[in-house]
Amino acid sequence: MKKEYADPCADRIRGCLVGGAAGDALGYPVEFLSDKGIRKTYGEQGIRSYVRERETGLAVVSDDTQMTMYTATGILYGELRGWTRGIYGKTYDYVYVNYMDWLHTQNPQKKEPGVSWIREIPQLQVRRAPGNTCLSALESGSCGSRTEPINGSKGCGGIMRVAPVALFNSSGEQWKDIRRVDLIGADVAAVTHGHPLGYIPAAALVHLIRRIVYGGGRRNGTLYDIAAECRETMEELFKGNPYLPAFLKKLDDAAILSQNSASDRENIRRLGEGWVAEETFAIALYCSLRYSYDFSAALIASVNHDGDSDSTGAVTGNIMGALTGCSEIPECWKEGLQFYPVLLELADDLYFTREILEKPRVERKDLEERGLLSKYVQGSWKPEGGWGE
Ligand SMILES: [Mg+2]
Repeated sequence: MKKEYADPCADRIRGCLVGGAAGDALGYPVEFLSDKGIRKTYGEQGIRSYVRERETGLAVVSDDTQMTMYTATGILYGELRGWTRGIYGKTYDYVYVNYMDWLHTQNPQKKEPGVSWIREIPQLQVRRAPGNTCLSALESGSCGSRTEPINGSKGCGGIMRVAPVALFNSSGEQWKDIRRVDLIGADVAAVTHGHPLGYIPAAALVHLIRRIVYGGGRRNGTLYDIAAECRETMEELFKGNPYLPAFLKKLDDAAILSQNSASDRENIRRLGEGWVAEETFAIALYCSLRYSYDFSAALIASVNHDGDSDSTGAVTGNIMGALTGCSEIPECWKEGLQFYPVLLELADDLYFTREILEKPRVERKDLEERGLLSKYVQGSWKPEGGWGE
């Protein structure tokens, strides 16, 4: 375990990535089980702890965490490549290039050169029920955008992977205004999901997480305050979009239901199943509001339902992990979590890239101390001692 850092933001960034992976790993075994099926298999209280892989004892993650990791490498690829060349393109283009790396790990017989160091990790070159929309959009060879939608999908494959957008920070033009960062979140989702309800919830999630991690905002206090400010911002950003009211209704429902005395099962059933992004967002917000001070309770509630448990778990874990910080996530969710060290590495790279690039004078050696250029620009980095089994 690496040393803890004094800045609480660094711990929240770690918490967001680790929490997301924890929710994904908890929900993955029950992704395709109904609520009834979950209770039949795991008892009346539902699934409450990891189902670990027999051979390794690991709690394995699915495509949600895989793609989240590639979002992180994509952002850093863009920022660091920009630094070396002095020109910056659009963040979602760089993320797209990294998603192509992910795509190639899903078809390992097609060996293509890539850019991201994580694609060399053998355990990451595995298919874990990847979403058809993500696969087909990337296989099309085009990068989708909000102005040129690649399809009409509002599946949750866009929102479940955008958290790293909320975590990177810099005084650079596009990162200092939260509303622009929210739109980067929407753009990153729109790479594969062209329906407004595929990318508006992604923008909202980025807003929530960024406020949790970095504070600020017109209101500043509880998660309810942050959710209210998020709602106002989405109204401004997507004003006139015919699908905005449907999204806002979901957000409101999540907040209202989080305060009643009905069971989580009952409330989540009213919010939907989470296969589409606005429902994934609503379920994750509901669970996080209901259990703001209890990471485990939020995570468990978020996966025990009829729907897309790994994605609702992943997004809930992103929010809750940012709230609690990695150091306060209970040990049982970190022990044996697949890619735990890599997630910490990515989180710290997101944090330290900003720290280093904000120095008055930056030299290559400052970046190479963390291997940032060989990891994210050359894609040639390898850990001492190899990748292990
Ligand atoms: Mg999944």
